[in-house]
Amino acid sequence: MILVTGGAGYIGSHTVRELRSRGYDVVVYDNLTTGHIEAVGDAIFVKGDLFDVELLKDTFKKYGVDSVIHFAAYSLVGESMTNPLKYYHNNVAGTLALLEAMVACDVKYLVFSSSAATYGDTGEDIISETSPQKPTSVYGMTKLMMEQLMADFDKAYGLKYVALRYFNAAGAHESGEIGEDHNPESHLIPIIMQVLNGKREKLGIFGDDYPTPDGTCIRDYIHITDLADAHIKALESLKSGASSNAYNLGNGNGFSVKEVVETVEKVVGKPVKREIVPRRAGDPAVLVASSDKIKKELGWKPEYDSLEKIVASAWKWHSTHPDGFKTK
Ligand code: UDP
Repeated sequence: MILVTGGAGYIGSHTVRELRSRGYDVVVYDNLTTGHIEAVGDAIFVKGDLFDVELLKDTFKKYGVDSVIHFAAYSLVGESMTNPLKYYHNNVAGTLALLEAMVACDVKYLVFSSSAATYGDTGEDIISETSPQKPTSVYGMTKLMMEQLMADFDKAYGLKYVALRYFNAAGAHESGEIGEDHNPESHLIPIIMQVLNGKREKLGIFGDDYPTPDGTCIRDYIHITDLADAHIKALESLKSGASSNAYNLGNGNGFSVKEVVETVEKVVGKPVKREIVPRRAGDPAVLVASSDKIKKELGWKPEYDSLEKIVASAWKWHSTHPDGFKTK
C-alpha cells in the first residue's frame, strides 16, 4: 500500500490516478487545506494533517503502508517571501513529523516532490543534478531543507528516498476530469486560462527586464502525467533496491513568459490581454532542466514533449471547468 500525502492536490491527484490505473493500492492523506476531495478518485481517503503523527502511524498500520509519496506542502514562491513562518513550519516541520512516523512504523521508501526552486539562479543554461543548490526563495529553501532531512534520515535510519526536482508542472489529465485549481490561482498557464474564460481581466507579466532574449523569465514546462510516471518509476526503483537519489524532471526546453502566452493564443485561437507589471520577488531569470539522469537511470521519457501538447491538455480542463472543482 502506498500512502500519498497531498494526494488531493494538483500533482498528487494526477499521480494517484496513474497509480490506480496501474493497479496500485493507494491511501490519500490530505488535510484538504488546498486540495479537492473530488480529485481523489477511487483511492482510500484519510483526512489528516502532517503534524498528526499518531494518525499517520495509525494509518500506516491500518493499511499496511510500505511506501510514501510526499506532495503535501505549500508551493507559492511569492507567498513564501512574505510569510516564511507558514512555509518553514508546514513544509519543513511537517516533513519532519512525517519522517518521525515513518521511522516509528518502519516505512522505508519515500518519493518526494522537490523543486527546481532549490537551484535558484545558477547562471547555467541547463541545470543538472550537480548544479549548485542556492535557492532564491523561501519556498526553494524549504524544499532544499526537506531534501537534507531525508539524506540525514537515510544515513541514520536507512530511509530510502528519491527527490524529484520538478521544473514547471503544467497541463491536466487526458480525461479532462481533473486539473489545476488553486485558490487564489498564481501559476502562469491557469492564469492565462482564466483570462480566456473571462474570469480575470488580464495577465500581469512579472517583469520584462530580466537578462533573457525578450526580457521575461524562462521556464521549462513539464506535463503532470509525465511527472506522475516519474514518481512511479522512482518508487519502483527504490523497491527493487536502488539507493537514495535525486533527479530533475523537465522537458529540457525553456519558454519565456511571452512565448507561453503566444503558444496559448495559437493553440486556443483567442487573444490574451496582458500588461507588464513589476517583478515578483524570488523569481530566478532562467530555469531549464537537464533530465538526462532520470532518462538514463530509470528509463523515463516525457510523452508530452511540446508546449503545444501541454497547453492543449490544460485548455481541455479549464474550458470545461472554468470555475475548477465544485468543492473548494
Ligand atoms: N508569471 C507571470 N505572471 C503571473 C504568474 C506567473 O509573469 O501572473 C511568471 C513568473 O514570474 C514565472 C513564470 O510566469 O517566471 C512561471 O510562474 P509560475 O508561478 O507559474 O511558476 P514558478 O516558476 O513560480 O514555479
